[in-house]
Amino acid sequence: MSSGGEIIYECVRCSHRVSSEELRLYDDVRCTRCGYKVLKKTRPPIVKRVKAE
Ligand SMILES: [Zn+2]
Repeated sequence: MSSGGEIIYECVRCSHRVSSEELRLYDDVRCTRCGYKVLKKTRPPIVKRVKAE
């Protein structure tokens, strides 16, 4: 069983990126570097093939 969708969060203060895997180690969603609690979701760097128009 694979969820297949790891979410990457980015700290709005220091721009450190934290994966949802790392956040599972904590009770709170917070930056693992500076401890700031405001993170925004970013898309993981998945390369998709898109048909050119
Ligand atoms: Zn941070």
